[in-house]
Amino acid sequence: MSRNNSISVPSRGAYLDALGIQQWRLRDSEEAIQEQVTSPANIEQTKQNNSVVNESSVGTTADFAVDVEKISTMDLTELQLDVRACQACELHKTRKQTVFGTGHHKADWLIIGEAPGADEDRQGEPFVGRAGQLLTQMLRAIGLAREEVFIANILKCRPPNNRDPKKEEVAACQAYLYRQIELIEPKIVLALGRIAAQSLLNSDIPIGKMRGKLYHLEKNNIPTVVTYHPAYLLRSPKEKRKVWEDLKFARQQIVS
Ligand code: URA
Repeated sequence: MSRNNSISVPSRGAYLDALGIQQWRLRDSEEAIQEQVTSPANIEQTKQNNSVVNESSVGTTADFAVDVEKISTMDLTELQLDVRACQACELHKTRKQTVFGTGHHKADWLIIGEAPGADEDRQGEPFVGRAGQLLTQMLRAIGLAREEVFIANILKCRPPNNRDPKKEEVAACQAYLYRQIELIEPKIVLALGRIAAQSLLNSDIPIGKMRGKLYHLEKNNIPTVVTYHPAYLLRSPKEKRKVWEDLKFARQQIVS
């Protein structure tokens, strides 16, 4: 739910319905947000700017570094351009396109997954495949439209064959994610799955043990709740009940 709107509370039955057959697609508004950015000339300028490296940069590939200091002054549109030009890790060589994230720029809920998959890599949007459709249904069940939340990932580029992100890839992408969090100022972060939870909270605790607790991001103290990844729910539908509990727990942190 975006700022200053009350949250509608659907019934449990609506949740179960939503997890069954309905497909919720709000592509028009998502596309509007996606298309806010930008001209090829801007992208070219961003590429040139990125070749300037200073001591606040985190270096990765030989001729490119993420300039953390510069990123700290960017708005979301500038940040998205910078991400598009990023070559800070090897993933830029295999991606079709970057997946910056979509949604409300001042969303109360920031949903963070792991990394784009094949569908997301093709479309440039997070969570558009089967797992994404389930995520949309889960959000709907708690009274949230996709366009009201912001959805992003730990990584902005797809790892080949959907392998787990490498530590250096997470590190290279971190400044972008943290600037997104800083700009959006969500009231709650929902971490989807082990990789997102452990990366965000700098933990190696198994996800099953992280669930049901309230965390705060170290950098900015934003309340954070952990739940299972929708891709896992597709394989283990009986765990949907636990995710429903997690979503209600997350909502309580906003309304209380
Ligand atoms: N899984 C993720 O973690 N993120 C996506 O965007 C898609 C699938």
